[in-house]
Amino acid sequence: MSRPLVAHIRLDAFRHNYRLAKAAHGGRALAVVKADAYGHGAVECARAIADEADGFAVAMIEEALSLRAAGITAPILLLEGFFDVSELLDIQIHNLWIVVHHRWQVDALLAAHLTRPITVWLKMDSGMHRVGIAPDQYRATYERLKNHPSIAQIVLMSHFARADEPESGHMLQQLETFHAATMGIDAPVSLSNSAAVLGWSGARADWARPGIMLYGADPFVGKAGASIAEQLRPVMRLEGGIISVRIIARGEPLGYGGAFVADRPTRVGVVSCGYADGYPRTAPTGTPVAVDGQLTRLIGRVSMDMLTVDLTHLPQADIGSRVELWGDQVPVNAVASRVGTIAYELLCHVKRARFEYSG
Ligand code: PLP
Repeated sequence: MSRPLVAHIRLDAFRHNYRLAKAAHGGRALAVVKADAYGHGAVECARAIADEADGFAVAMIEEALSLRAAGITAPILLLEGFFDVSELLDIQIHNLWIVVHHRWQVDALLAAHLTRPITVWLKMDSGMHRVGIAPDQYRATYERLKNHPSIAQIVLMSHFARADEPESGHMLQQLETFHAATMGIDAPVSLSNSAAVLGWSGARADWARPGIMLYGADPFVGKAGASIAEQLRPVMRLEGGIISVRIIARGEPLGYGGAFVADRPTRVGVVSCGYADGYPRTAPTGTPVAVDGQLTRLIGRVSMDMLTVDLTHLPQADIGSRVELWGDQVPVNAVASRVGTIAYELLCHVKRARFEYSG
């Protein structure tokens, strides 16, 4: 028997969440499957919606080529575009769409004399100030690309910095900037990530780009967001097993650094999952876990291959019991918020688990 650490991936939940994204936003939706589908397996996830997805988005060409090699024929957008002109050949051959976010890319594209015109998503920096063409140069850049024989189609796009903070007002400013800079341009538009899909009907446009919601995590993380987020279904259930049980007496320390000291006789279960598997080392005592369907808590410091949980009130739990680290009973956001990070990071970092797909 192999080490009991399994990432159960429910593709029916992924499909459900994709449909929910489309229904909430209207129009078409690129499923964002970069970073190996946020750690869930890009090929498996893409195949699960291949016959209904309007397209996919990945960060870079290697990710796109592995989807093409797996038989995915739908449009694939490279969210970071290209890093070097040498990539343009594969971009044409494999019919990939590219984000263009910088002037050097525009210059390179127009100088490249492509044999097959390609679709460009022209990204505006409407307020995130990471990448994108400045609003005051956007129209002129669009005009340079429009009607050029190397360009098949242009989609106008921007990305929100604070769509998950409805109270900030920042998103409205970004929207205003975008609309002012593109007024009168007749081209398809794409603005919304998951938080905007779920919470901002004002950002609806021709194309959405949902990511995290497809994996069942609410981007609003408990903040008053959108009630539709309650319909999301978690896709990953990360499940370890109890490999050892012992009772430590009151006053005895547990694990590295003796960071946890028992304040009563404590029945400790050792779980086959540690920070080398992607569980955060900084998770404090009290972080929720579910043992055979019963909620309890992490105790002591997470080690590289193991972590420890409190079984004092779970007398049935024993070696072989299953421990949900996140999934249905323990939302991944509940773990992420304990360690000051976001679900995205935890999901992307799952390693060494056996991936089992269903649905
Ligand atoms: N669009 C762009 C340009 C992105 O970079 C990302 C993710 O980082 C997304 C969409 C998807 O965002 P989310 O996972 O928050 O839905």
